[in-house]
Amino acid sequence: MEELKRDIFVHRIDAMGFLTAGGLVVTHSRAFVIDTLACPQDMAPVLAVLAERAAGRRRVVINTHHHWDHVYGNGAFPTGDIVAQRSCPRLLEAQLHRLSGSAPAPPPEGVRTPTITFGDRVAYLDRHETVHLIATPGHSEDSLIVYLDGARVLFAGDTLEWPFPTFAQRDGRDTWVRTLRQLKQLPADIIVPGHGPTMGKQLIDANERYITAVYETVAAAKRRGVERHELDVRPEEVLGSDVELDAVYREAHRANVEWAYDEV
Ligand SMILES: [Zn+2]
Repeated sequence: MEELKRDIFVHRIDAMGFLTAGGLVVTHSRAFVIDTLACPQDMAPVLAVLAERAAGRRRVVINTHHHWDHVYGNGAFPTGDIVAQRSCPRLLEAQLHRLSGSAPAPPPEGVRTPTITFGDRVAYLDRHETVHLIATPGHSEDSLIVYLDGARVLFAGDTLEWPFPTFAQRDGRDTWVRTLRQLKQLPADIIVPGHGPTMGKQLIDANERYITAVYETVAAAKRRGVERHELDVRPEEVLGSDVELDAVYREAHRANVEWAYDEV
């Protein structure tokens, strides 16, 4: 566990080749767990810090969205509330019943579904810190970010990712770009994306540029008559030449390109 600032922790795991981040924030009267990652065992370091540093606090577990690599550790918290955006329980149930996507089998402990939901935003007011949960659709219908007003730290879930975001909400492009423009209004100094290293605010622009460039490049190719299986949008074209992609991310980029093809 990395202590980003006092009482603000980041916990990273490798989820099938993707560096995946969760968070733990201890305020005066509460302890916020931001995502439970891919299985209950991933939460062991978080539980250790909770025991050591957050005794007596009320625990609030947050699911930034329903995807398996962010919620399959929910079973590590058998009691207490799990907070999410309003669409999360339905999307999570569908994922658990394999009605959507390509998620792995859930852990034997099961996956608790959220017990408290909200629509657009909710805030926890505490001495010295206000913790905002803000709906940020685009990556998924139920995506949310967690913003710490006092510390100016933004936990972005998969609303922001490095080196690029993954497309998962059908016809979500315009929604996502709107979301990113709203996020830029937040006076955040530090961003913790759901995947990738801790960064500054330039990540928001970088993600918007990638999303826009992929859709524009794919639309142009489709107009020229290029078939879906012939698509070849080189990462350098949409990311700049200084970003090196490993095999996992090259594959994720290819999936984004094909995803966009079906929408343009
Ligand atoms: Zn993710």
